[in-house]
Amino acid sequence: MSRRWLFADQLGPHFLDDRAQPVLLIESKAVFRRRVYHRQKAHLILSALRHRAAELGDQAIFLRAETYGQALRKVREPLEVCHPTSRAALAFVRDLDRVTVLPARGYVTSLEDFADWADSRRGALRMESFYRFARDHHRVLLDGPDPVGGRWSYDTENREAPPKDGELDVPAAPMPKEDDIDAEVRADLDHWEREGIRFAGRDGPRRFPATTKEAKARLRHFLRHRLAAFGPYEDAMLAGDPWLAHSMLSAAFNLGLLDPMEAVRGAEQAYRKQGAPLASVEGFIRQVMGWRDYIWHTYWYFEPSWRSSNELGARRSLPGWWQDLDADAVDAHCLHDVLAGVRDRAWVHHIPRLMVLGNYALQRGWRPAELVEWFRTRFVDGYDWVMTGNVVGMSQYADLGRMTTKPYVSGGAYINRMSDYCGGCRYDPKKRLGPDACPFTAGYWAFLAANRSRIPANARMARTMKQMERLTDLDAVVAQEKQRGSDPP
Ligand code: SF4
Repeated sequence: MSRRWLFADQLGPHFLDDRAQPVLLIESKAVFRRRVYHRQKAHLILSALRHRAAELGDQAIFLRAETYGQALRKVREPLEVCHPTSRAALAFVRDLDRVTVLPARGYVTSLEDFADWADSRRGALRMESFYRFARDHHRVLLDGPDPVGGRWSYDTENREAPPKDGELDVPAAPMPKEDDIDAEVRADLDHWEREGIRFAGRDGPRRFPATTKEAKARLRHFLRHRLAAFGPYEDAMLAGDPWLAHSMLSAAFNLGLLDPMEAVRGAEQAYRKQGAPLASVEGFIRQVMGWRDYIWHTYWYFEPSWRSSNELGARRSLPGWWQDLDADAVDAHCLHDVLAGVRDRAWVHHIPRLMVLGNYALQRGWRPAELVEWFRTRFVDGYDWVMTGNVVGMSQYADLGRMTTKPYVSGGAYINRMSDYCGGCRYDPKKRLGPDACPFTAGYWAFLAANRSRIPANARMARTMKQMERLTDLDAVVAQEKQRGSDPP
């Protein structure tokens, strides 16, 4: 049996053919020199890799080197590797003589199945229809040929505003216990920082699984105690509770620690055997085998230049306060809290990402490619394949709608409805002009005014555009936002 080279995001047992298969693991320091990663993300990657090496013992050759190339020169035998997760890594392994590249693992659907589905379609490749195909193909949540409950999606039941008392009554997810490996990682990162390697964000306790055992424990706890509340509140934001009922498993999936199909089947069992609410179960399954697989596949299916799409002509670079996660420079309560969450945890859930961070960047005209890089390096679950679709295709509308039917842009009214942020803010979500004008509300109208000729007429925006044309203070709002520029709001 050939030795299987596992990248640091291919760490679970489902990346091996046999429990006893020989393994190669490489820790490359150059990865951390090339980009400014969040300190907690660097910690998680190194911790997961070293935990896997410790688990495998003599079964694995574990090499620490400056680069992958230097490490590979020490291994003489033929190697095989599962399809890597970035275009750069795929090109690198394909260039190596001794390495056989195998099909991808770690997703519910295969690249071939997606390509067959996509090739057979005319028009846009929407997540909703891919998700139906995937459910059908893998017989998930079906009764005979039909979706359980008669509907494919319960999305409309997944948008409750947060509870009025600012708390969601669910048991907290168990946090991992750090061990000697984590202590060694922390000491090494301290040393690397003294050598001049830069990290973003604050160090903190490891909050995300670094082993398959930890990931499975978190999944079991989620299915038993948190899944029921996940569905209704998955879009809600609370200043005092960043986790709400989210599974906090995305990093474990993306490190390859947890097989997503295990989570999908577990959620289906929770519905069929324990009576978990269908809207929550379906909502979770849609995230895991719908959105996650769809984002993975579009990364490979669309042409490589898709990543640098910038059809709205966004020209501004990300400002320093954003790059440095300087939440204290920001007064706007929602943005302050979300940016502080990234700084302190390297994680916020999908709505703060999309409707606070992404929305703000879109309104300010920041370059999508820089934003991909920022999300990729600042989030524990960020990878090139994850952030290309989520940022370019979804949040920045930089391809004019290959994935979405309209830009994810909104004013303060959305944030006010879905969070408890606005009550404690110096700005007023209803105001677009003046010293207390909400930067999201003013930015919303200024964005629409600036992009009125670029947003396609069929983009479900006609009514909003007409409303904008009727605003008598639009020019003043545009001038105000131009002056605000990229300063922290
Ligand atoms: Fe955010 Fe505007 Fe609400 Fe303040 S008023 S919290 S800036 S949406």
